[in-house]
Amino acid sequence: MFTLLGKNGQARLGQIKTKHGIVETPCFMPVGTQAVIKSLDSEDLKNLSPEIILANTYHLYLKPGEKLVKKAGGLHKFMNWPGPILTDSGGFQVFSLGIQKKNRIAKRQPPAFKSSGNLSNQGQLCAVDEQGVDFRSYWDGGKHRFTPEKAMQIQFDLGADIIMAFDECTADTAPLNYTKQAMFRTHVWAKRSLQALKKLRNKKLKIKYPLILGIIQGGRFKNLRRQSAKFISSLDFDGIAIGGESIGYNMLRTRRIFSWISDLLPENKPRYAMGLGSSPLDVFVVVEQGVDMFDCVSPTRIARHGIFYLKSAGAKNQFRLSILNKKFKADFKPIDSKCGCLTCRNYSRAYLRHLFKAKELTALRLATIHNVHFMLELLREIREAIQKNRFKKLKSAWERPATIIPAFHKS
Ligand SMILES: [Zn+2]
Repeated sequence: MFTLLGKNGQARLGQIKTKHGIVETPCFMPVGTQAVIKSLDSEDLKNLSPEIILANTYHLYLKPGEKLVKKAGGLHKFMNWPGPILTDSGGFQVFSLGIQKKNRIAKRQPPAFKSSGNLSNQGQLCAVDEQGVDFRSYWDGGKHRFTPEKAMQIQFDLGADIIMAFDECTADTAPLNYTKQAMFRTHVWAKRSLQALKKLRNKKLKIKYPLILGIIQGGRFKNLRRQSAKFISSLDFDGIAIGGESIGYNMLRTRRIFSWISDLLPENKPRYAMGLGSSPLDVFVVVEQGVDMFDCVSPTRIARHGIFYLKSAGAKNQFRLSILNKKFKADFKPIDSKCGCLTCRNYSRAYLRHLFKAKELTALRLATIHNVHFMLELLREIREAIQKNRFKKLKSAWERPATIIPAFHKS
């Protein structure tokens, strides 16, 4: 249930109505892989007040299992988060962890799937056929199978507000023929996902619950991307996602892909760029092209390595400050004196640096709070700018390379 409230150029201001509240868009979704934003508890999360958070189907299916989450009353009750939740379909992890983790379990597990027939060329821990994907768990090597129907059932049991169709995420390097096959498979799976969810949905509810988004694939090929955009947009999805390994990781390619398909996307459905939001400038690139939602692990992941987002640090260092740098040893100012987050209101750079150096766990929480707050504030600023027809001005202000703030050197 998406309402387009206004536009400034192609940038859109909107609202998605879900069972657990209204999501103001454009929005950034912090990633709570295992039903938690790493190092934060639900009180921290409520104080930060994201529009919506994301949880991972693949991880929750493996640990603790969707049946247990269902027994607990669904994800919202299980993790004590009353706001909207989106779950991915698990497809991305099935394919990507199939490559990344194969070495980790190779020593203690039986051989991975042998290639036969029409297999994915993306990893030895998963084997795709027309019906679904066989894969081994990245952490214990156990054998599992995902199909569109299974992915719908898991997400439905988890109780998310917005769920994703099951797709095959192709690698950036995949050749044309393979990408084409995977795209057609994704299209068939999109239809099957919709049918499976139809059976699960409670028809008595006034609003459709959960909402479901279809995913456009097609890799780095213009014709395939356009073909996929047309097909997915023609189905009865509540929103359209743009997937693929490039999105958010290769911004030149991301920009190009969006320019190919943006004229084909329906105006009345939310658009989701999957895995984007590593740098504030990336956000401006896709919001400018009419994207309404995105998620990225970067803000929370880099926080755990002592990297804090900082607006005044300029484009040159990607708006980042590394607290481990010696120059902050006796710097008693906050990370950002203009930031209203709990960390900046209460703690100095010197103290935060000390916590990281001493490997104190609180360091992770305080850094995560700041970075999530930074991204959420950025999106609030963007929504306000769209509303006041000054999105372009705001974008230029952020793009202007800023000099390192003098405070860095004074103390
Ligand atoms: Zn802060």
